[in-house]
Amino acid sequence: MKPPVEPKAEDCCNSGCNPCIFDVYEKQLQLYHKSLRGEGEKLLEGENGISQLNYTTFVVTEKIIICDSHVLIKFKNLESHKKVTWSAGDHFLIKYYGETKSCTKAYTPIHFDKDKDSDFIILLKRYSNGLVSNFLYALEIGTPTLWRGPYGSFKLFPNKYKRMFMIAQGTGIATFIKIIEDVLKDEDNFTKIILLFCCKNISCILLREYLYSCNSYWNFDYQIFLSTYSDSACYKYKEPIVNHKLSAADFETFVPFTSSDQFLACGSAEFMNHFKNLLSDKNIPSENICLF
Ligand SMILES: Cc1cc2nc3c(=O)[nH]c(=O)nc-3n(C[C@H](O)[C@H](O)[C@H](O)COP(=O)(O)OP(=O)(O)OC[C@H]3O[C@@H](n4cnc5c(N)ncnc54)[C@H](O)[C@@H]3O)c2cc1C
Repeated sequence: MKPPVEPKAEDCCNSGCNPCIFDVYEKQLQLYHKSLRGEGEKLLEGENGISQLNYTTFVVTEKIIICDSHVLIKFKNLESHKKVTWSAGDHFLIKYYGETKSCTKAYTPIHFDKDKDSDFIILLKRYSNGLVSNFLYALEIGTPTLWRGPYGSFKLFPNKYKRMFMIAQGTGIATFIKIIEDVLKDEDNFTKIILLFCCKNISCILLREYLYSCNSYWNFDYQIFLSTYSDSACYKYKEPIVNHKLSAADFETFVPFTSSDQFLACGSAEFMNHFKNLLSDKNIPSENICLF
């Protein structure tokens, strides 16, 4: 059994993740020392096709442009058939090597059962002066990339909550896909999901077909809030799109809130701060709120 390799400072994405890769390393080191003492605990690394402690090479197999700022990028390990797994709310880290700088950035993997040609997919937003997002956006099919993970601390408790509100902004929707999949595929989970999805305009509605298809589940409900007006002629049949930003008034349609409601939010820091304040104004206890 090999000791875990200590991450370098540049292996941390500096986003305040919980757990950070240094926490993962410390935990692995403790487990390693315990195993040397014969205390029999196993290292966390199992049969997963991606590792928390070392980078694994995944090649770009497909890119689907959604709009000029968003793209879906599919990745596959061509040398291993090990399944890549992660839990709801987890993210991966990519290693970026530039000419003058190398660093690590966090991205949230998604996947759909029907997609056999990839191990995971990244839903990417490109920032005009963003270092890694522009690198990823420009990747060509066949380019090898280095990833490690999964990391995360979210726990899904089936049936703990009657309603699970998901408040997403842009690529923040990626965090909720595995949670949605896990809830909807579990026939014994009676939690109702209510997704409130904030998008810039109609062409930037991410995973639009997927969300529309989820609507056939009794325990999934969603609304898309557009910050830029669009003509309803562009909507699908009964597609729940509204032409305004998500506001406090929209939450009134769901009152009363009780302790069996959970609120998850994922978006920019400003977006999450706004909804954190809004939920605390509505006396939602902080233990029922999870900000990613
Ligand atoms: C846990 C976690 C999961 C994430 N998952 C995803 C994901 O699935 N998809 C995805 O696209 N991104 C995701 N991100 C964000 C991602 O890690 C990068 O921060 C993002 O791609 C920008 O990196 P960059 O190197 O391009 O920008 P940088 O070079 O770091 O920043 C350059 C400029 O870009 C702009 N910018 C960068 N980040 C932001 C931001 N968050 N909000 C507003 N402006 C910004 C700013 O103007 C900034 O000055 C996630 C982040 C975390 C912490």
